[in-house]
Amino acid sequence: VRFQVSRVMDSIERRLTTDVTLAQAVVDLGEVARFAALDDGRPVNLLRIGVAIDALSRYLLDAGAMLYGIAGRDLLADAAFTAKERMVLGRWLDDGLIEVTPEVADRPVEVADLTGLPLVTVRSMEQYAERFPWLRDSPHRVLRLRPRAGSGVLVPADGADLDPPEAPKVAVGKAQVAVSGDATGYPEVFATHGAQRVSHTRVVRRLVTRAEPSGLGASLVAREWRCAEPDCPSFGERRAIGQPVPRMRGGVPTCPRHGGHLRDVGPRPAACAVSVVVDDLPRLRFAVREGRPVRVGVDDGEDLISVAQWAHASARAWIGPAHVRLELRDGRLVATDISANGTAVWRRSGPDDPGRTTWLYGSEYTLNDWDSVELYTGIELMLGDRRLATVLARSEPVSVLVDAPTAPMRQLA
Ligand SMILES: [Zn+2]
Repeated sequence: VRFQVSRVMDSIERRLTTDVTLAQAVVDLGEVARFAALDDGRPVNLLRIGVAIDALSRYLLDAGAMLYGIAGRDLLADAAFTAKERMVLGRWLDDGLIEVTPEVADRPVEVADLTGLPLVTVRSMEQYAERFPWLRDSPHRVLRLRPRAGSGVLVPADGADLDPPEAPKVAVGKAQVAVSGDATGYPEVFATHGAQRVSHTRVVRRLVTRAEPSGLGASLVAREWRCAEPDCPSFGERRAIGQPVPRMRGGVPTCPRHGGHLRDVGPRPAACAVSVVVDDLPRLRFAVREGRPVRVGVDDGEDLISVAQWAHASARAWIGPAHVRLELRDGRLVATDISANGTAVWRRSGPDDPGRTTWLYGSEYTLNDWDSVELYTGIELMLGDRRLATVLARSEPVSVLVDAPTAPMRQLA
């Protein structure tokens, strides 16, 4: 059992980030870990963070959805945690995967304000509406975590009376599904790949993805910040992943953990999130930063993203160890084929365009918002946030709480 808990903690860990490029929602971790109504269990439990991640995955239809978690010091000291849980929390903190701050207070709302990320909450945030008027004006940016059948579900705050159906509606192939009023957000149909693949396709149009960051937030994330504490996991020199957003104190950017003023050390390199999309379901998110190209293939390595776990035998034989290189140039994603077999690009004018393919043979292509790079049938790379107005998915996101590998990809005819 202990071994399985470790595996589950590792699965949860892979979905935590304080990199504002990769994060898809922000949450107070203490609020979730202490939300006993989720499972009627002990007063505090770290596995509940997995429940929140699963709920976000189902909400976004993204099996790689990533959460920006904030913990107060009181949570780290909570005596009701097991020794194992405290050790795991400490590791997440040291690796900068979560943010630890003396007092959580309005910090999750601030992060949502500065980044435009949706805010996942258990409690009402009404008390902060004076400082952050969007809490009142755009309540749909707040997603309430609620218990649902031994798990959790996210409900937009203004949709409190519009409980979503237990299971999203199902459309077969390209069938049209009636739209039952805009407030519920269901659904809109389009075919990502044209007509050649007919499948059971579940279609959900989400209500919230990401709002515009506030003006202050946009200027803060345009800069790289440095904490006076050299080992600071958030704003230290050794941080390997993209930075979080500073905490504003009296109009001054400060370190959320150490409280000191942050030094502006120059422009933050541009970055974008890319999703590995397999069978129409995003599985893994990674960042591409200006000046740091990323290669994708079936091999692992530094600056190398592997899709091997989703590739069956013929896909593995086709996709090269490093198949395609992605880089950010003038804020746009450029794909270069570095494979023996060539790389297909699906060009689309919008979300309802089935697309046309262009083949790259050692050549490069600058991607537009709705384009994707296909390494092999059904294994694609897409801009992480822009494809999200509408998402098709054939299967449920796999729970981080299940100690099981992703189901092997089905062979496509
Ligand atoms: Zn610091």
